[in-house]
Amino acid sequence: MPDPDFDDVRRAARSLRGHAHHTPILTSRTANERTGAELLFKAEHLQRIGAFKFRGAWHAIARLNDDQRRHGVIAYSSGNHAQAVALAAREQHIPATIVMPEDAPPAKMAATRSHEARVITYDRYREDREAIASELAERDGLSLIPPYDHPDIIAGQGTAALELFHEAGELDSLVVCLGGGGLLSGSAIAAEQLSPHCRIIGVEPEAGNDGQQSLSRGEIVTIPAPRTLADGAATTHLGRLTFPIIQRRVAEIVTVSDAALVRTMHFLAERMKQFVEPTGCLAAAAVLEGSIPVAGQRVGILISGGNISPAHYARLLSEA
Ligand SMILES: *Cc1c(COP(=O)(O)O)cnc(C)c1O
Repeated sequence: MPDPDFDDVRRAARSLRGHAHHTPILTSRTANERTGAELLFKAEHLQRIGAFKFRGAWHAIARLNDDQRRHGVIAYSSGNHAQAVALAAREQHIPATIVMPEDAPPAKMAATRSHEARVITYDRYREDREAIASELAERDGLSLIPPYDHPDIIAGQGTAALELFHEAGELDSLVVCLGGGGLLSGSAIAAEQLSPHCRIIGVEPEAGNDGQQSLSRGEIVTIPAPRTLADGAATTHLGRLTFPIIQRRVAEIVTVSDAALVRTMHFLAERMKQFVEPTGCLAAAAVLEGSIPVAGQRVGILISGGNISPAHYARLLSEA
């Protein structure tokens, strides 16, 4: 599969027009004073399905040919990617199958079913979801929509940063959360063209720093499934497509602790009135907690998602 380039990101932006939200850029005087920087928060928790994942899913499905569309799509995910594929498929009149662990949060399963997807559950301790998905894909001729390691997914995710640069102009730094690297590599492709001097920084949970290890070793490092509040970034390895893009274009990868994520959720709620899930706070936490020097700079921060149950959110904030 060819590496996605800036033209692919532009093409994705065209295919998303009228279907995805153009999310706002938020600012906070308090956050600027605390860091001595001008911070621009791209609010992808206000994207459809509550996360940037809608961008990649929509674009990947829009690129399928007639035969693939008739047969339908399949994805495996317990989180935001599942909802994104289910909604994007329904709106494009394509049948979707989602493979989810049987103990996935009931709210996420219900949200996925509400988009009329067929949900197939598996036992995550005994069964392999990739094997289940590829078997079904083979049997029923379904197209697999992977969560990050695909050129159309990377190009779609890159449209959030494209909007940010179009609206805000060039930046000194852009800080982006990192799971499998779809969002970070897409953002880096957009930045290279629209703000060539911008320093791109990835942020991972402390418990799952496989990306940081991969950059320093120069090869994809796989770690055991990390335990972290940042469930959307609890991936075990970067992708074969995302890693080389990150290696070429990303200056640095830093990590933040779960405690820093909860403090940042609190800050975003109290000061900016924003409801953000722990994973969605990774980039903001790295900047607000001083893990990245930003004084005197114009800095883009990607807030990636807001899908967490109000009850869980309340528990986390009351313990902070
Ligand atoms: C998927 C996801 C991430 C990680 O994105 P990758 O493209 O896998 O790096 C970060 N935040 C949220 C809210 C997500 O859903």
